[in-house]
Parts: sequence; C-alpha cells; structure tokens
Amino acid sequence: MVRATVDYDLVIVGSGPAGATAARAAVRGGLSVLLVDKKQELGSPIQCSGAVSANALKEVEVLPADEFVVEPVYGFKAYDATGVSETVDYRPYRSEPIGYVVDRRRFDRHLAALAELAGVELWLKTEATGHTPRPDGTTEVHLSRLGRPVSVTAHVVVGADGVQSQVGKWAGIQTRIKLRELASCFQLVVEGVETSGLLEIVTGERWAPGGYAWIFPKGHGRAEVGLGVARTMTERDARWHLDRFMNESFLADRLKGARIIEVQGGGVPLAAPLRRQAADHIVLIGDAARHVNPITGGGIHTALRGGAIAGAFLADFLAGDLPPTAAHLEGCHQRWLAELGDTMWKLYDHKTAIFRERDPARRDALLYATMTSYFRPDSEYRKI
Ligand SMILES: Cc1cc2nc3c(=O)[nH]c(=O)nc-3n(C[C@H](O)[C@H](O)[C@H](O)COP(=O)(O)OP(=O)(O)OC[C@H]3O[C@@H](n4cnc5c(N)ncnc54)[C@H](O)[C@@H]3O)c2cc1C
Repeated sequence: MVRATVDYDLVIVGSGPAGATAARAAVRGGLSVLLVDKKQELGSPIQCSGAVSANALKEVEVLPADEFVVEPVYGFKAYDATGVSETVDYRPYRSEPIGYVVDRRRFDRHLAALAELAGVELWLKTEATGHTPRPDGTTEVHLSRLGRPVSVTAHVVVGADGVQSQVGKWAGIQTRIKLRELASCFQLVVEGVETSGLLEIVTGERWAPGGYAWIFPKGHGRAEVGLGVARTMTERDARWHLDRFMNESFLADRLKGARIIEVQGGGVPLAAPLRRQAADHIVLIGDAARHVNPITGGGIHTALRGGAIAGAFLADFLAGDLPPTAAHLEGCHQRWLAELGDTMWKLYDHKTAIFRERDPARRDALLYATMTSYFRPDSEYRKI
C-alpha cells in the first residue's frame, strides 16, 4: 500500500511529558510531527509536585539541567498514621541523587524545546477539537489555533491530552474513571518548613483517606506540603484534610511556621491502565491512557516512558504498509504492556487488594508496608 500524502505523519495532542517525548521519539524515527497544546504557557498552572526519578530522565535521554531541577532527592521517609517511620537514605552509598523535584513549568518547556530541536513543529494556544477520517486512509484533524479554525491531515493522532482526555472520547474509547479511583489532590508551596533532600510520605486514613500526605523539598528553602484523598472515602475535600494534617498530626509542630506562597490542586487517576488504548487513527498515552502508578500516583516517569515507546512504535509502524486501524495500532499498547504495562497492572492489583480490606487499621498497615517496601533498594517496583 502506498500511503496518501499528509501534512504531518502524526498530530500529537498535548505537550506534557508524554506528548513531548512521543514527538521527539517519532521525529527521530523519521516521522513528521505536529505537536499542539491548548495552553499558551506549557506546564501552567502547575498541577504537580514534580518528583521524578533520575532513572526516568536517563531512559528518555533528558539531562537533569539546572533550568528545571529545583532540588535533588537522595531518599525517602515513610510514616504511618502515628508517626512511626522508616527512612531509606542513599547518601552514604552514592553521591548522585536518585531523583529530582522539577518545576513543571520549566520542565515541560524544556521537553518541548528538546522536541523542537529534534525537528518537531510545536503550535501553542492550539486546541484539538476532533478528527474526520478520509476515504484515502488518512484523517483530518480539526484545530482551533489562536482562536481560528484550522485543519491538517495526518495518518495518526496521538492523544497525550491528560487525565480529562477528549481524544479518547472522540474515538469512543471508555475513558471514564470511577470516582473511587480518582484521587483529589491539594498542595501548598510553603516557606518555613525544613526538608533534607528526602521525599516524605505520610500514610493513614486519619490524615488522607484513600491516599497519603507528602512533604517534598522544593529548593530555595521551600517545601511542597500536599495530600490526596479518594472522594468516596471521605465527605470532606482534600483541602480540609490538608488543614487538619498540618494542624493536628504528629508533624504539626514542624508545619506550624509554614508561610503559603502558592496553592495547587488537581486530579490523579489511581486507576487501571485503559484496556483499549487505540482506535482507528488514534493512540492514547500518558494520563490519557491511565499510565499512572496507581500506588504512588506518580505519572511523570510513566508518561515519559510511554511517550518514548509510542513514538518509536509509530515510526516503525508507519514505515510499513499496514493501515492505521484500531487493531493494528493496538500493537502500541502491546509493546507498552511488554515493556512497562504488565508491572503497572501488578501494582494496580496490589492497590486493589489493599482497598478491598474492610478493616481500616489493617488497610493502614498494608498501605504503610507497601510504601516502605516500595522505596527499598530491592523493591521490584523501584523503577516505576
Ligand atoms: C497535585 C498533583 C501532584 C502530582 N505530583 C506528581 C509527582 O510528584 N510526580 C509524578 O511523577 N507525577 C505527579 N503527578 C501526576 C503527573 O502530573 C501526571 O501524571 C503527568 O503530568 C502526566 O503527563 P501527561 O503528559 O500524560 O499529561 P499532562 O501533563 O496533563 O499534559 C497534557 C497536556 O495536554 C494539553 N491538552 C489537553 N487537551 C488538549 C486539547 N484538546 N488540545 C490541545 N492540548 C490539550 C494540556 O494543556 C496539557 O499541557 C501529580 C499530579 C497532581 C494532580
């Protein structure tokens, strides 16, 4: 089959970690790529704490530049509801950080700049609104660019459009998240709270029903203090729980001098990866495909890695002569399952088992045990 001429081989919707990385991998594989984002300033407003492992950056060949790293991370400290804690600090064994806290505004801009440098065309303030398959086997993608309607043709549209993905909906893919699997998060960037290069996590339903609280270092003497809750496990919102955590928990003394300089929030899907991640002309990646670690809620690593997998898959795929039907594009999902997804499914099953436990004290104990073992050097999940 000779492919019909198109404006771009791929249109990628969303220039977050998933979309920008998929775009860079695809142009490296020889494809022409248009990357669009509806924002005029990438990564803004920030809805993320920005913790990412060193390994995640290395895998997608992103150097940890001062431009976006706000603080190196050397280990973890997990607490149970009463303040009992376990620390894993790698400083005595290695000088390199194991991860970083990044500023998402600057990180997303950096990833987009790397994509542009590789040859991707980036259109900001451009919202994708739909697509219409054409008889010649291509598809017409409808965009609103700087408020004006524009259409471009492509072989495949990649939906990297985040937790509220519309691209999946266009294709009739079941993207609805059960309320009990959506963590509602609220975090404050504060001054006046000491940190020491560790990601700190506080478990226990007393403080964060269905989730956990965190204190992350943010550079320049600042910290992020936040918390996520499952809305089906509490009648209060995440903000109420954060207030209570900061005022009443065993860390209240340490947190009482906090001066708030920024307020952020957002939803995190603690759900299973979508069972169907492709449709005719469409592939979903990142939060849009629920490529999020369902235990920690971390989605940067999985977005970067899923983006790289999809970009490379699509370059291979479009070098061949198969039509971009749902059945053929599901090959992307299969590659993702083999490289990463099977482990994510294991994590999801593990999370489900914890929350199936009826006794709250047992649930607390299971979550604490999971968090502490997750961060140990010998954990099978350490790399996600
Ligand atoms: C409070 C909070 C804290 C978090 N902390 C962490 C953390 O510390 N570490 C971690 O690993 N993860 C964290 N996460 C999760 C992480 O932010 C996400 O998993 C990650 O951003 C997913 O990347 P993505 O590229 O899939 O989507 P996104 O980063 O959401 O990017 C999607 C992009 O698509 C664009 N878009 C959407 N619709 C359209 C459209 N129709 N047309 C054009 N553009 C469109 C958006 O503007 C956006 O730029 C946190 C999340 C929250 C809410």
